[in-house]
Amino acid sequence: MNVTIDKFSGFCWGVVRTVQIAEDQLAQRPAEGRRNVYVLGHIIHNPKEIERLAERGLETITVDDFPRLANSGAKVIIRAHGEPPETYRKAWEHGIEIVDATCPVVTKLQERVRKFWDQGYQVVIFGKKDHAEVLGVRGVVQDQCIVVKSVQDALDNVQLDRKTVLFSQTTMDRPTFLEIRDALKGRISELIVDTMEEIATEFHVKDTICGQVSGREAQLAAFAQRNDVIIFVAGRASSNGKVLFDVAHAANPRTYFVETKEEIDRVWLQGAENVGISGATSTPQWYMEEVREELLNY
Ligand code: SF4
Repeated sequence: MNVTIDKFSGFCWGVVRTVQIAEDQLAQRPAEGRRNVYVLGHIIHNPKEIERLAERGLETITVDDFPRLANSGAKVIIRAHGEPPETYRKAWEHGIEIVDATCPVVTKLQERVRKFWDQGYQVVIFGKKDHAEVLGVRGVVQDQCIVVKSVQDALDNVQLDRKTVLFSQTTMDRPTFLEIRDALKGRISELIVDTMEEIATEFHVKDTICGQVSGREAQLAAFAQRNDVIIFVAGRASSNGKVLFDVAHAANPRTYFVETKEEIDRVWLQGAENVGISGATSTPQWYMEEVREELLNY
């Protein structure tokens, strides 16, 4: 059996950067009386990487832990998903030093959303309401935005009676984003026909899906087709893991999602000559290597 790791899978540069910042903070601690370094929420959606960094002293906390860390010299890392402005304010109030590892792509998204909102636009975001990145963006506009997860959701909840801008969470899938765009554009044309007058509804569409996710889709589909079976390794909480798994599964129905190598079922591999391993932007290369070793021992 040949086992190949998809060379386009694994950490995106935003995650590489975040993990590097955490490693640097851990390494910079004085040897004596080492204290933990803190991160707000899991550093990435991958239990294996969380475990590795936790063993080195990275402790996952929430904003509710700020009072116990107040004025203690604690450093708190903000992960790639970013945080709402409120978090920075609370850290400052508690005398906590923030190490900002927000992915620059997410920072850019927050800045663009803020710019439109400041100009009085209705902000619509294609994303998951409670995803950390979306919570950050919602905070930027004081929660005055509409988060939609499907075309129907957009048609049911977005009133196009004022100038509007549509953004996307960076890890959503582009085909659905484009369907939402078309559905809302269609709604504007209907409004014009219904009222028999020209209503100049300004509607902007900003495709803020990260190229690190969308750029992988075609390569992943081709990789999935080249192999008899795909083992897709990702954390279950990973948004882009779900998107990329769906892409692989559509290209090859013998694609299986696992979080750990122990979940692999031998039955999946029956008759397979070529097995491919792929993963999300938060799946560490070292863990895919371990999965490969496991499969070669079967
Ligand atoms: S997927 Fe894109 S936005 Fe998300 S962390 Fe990676 S580079 Fe940044």
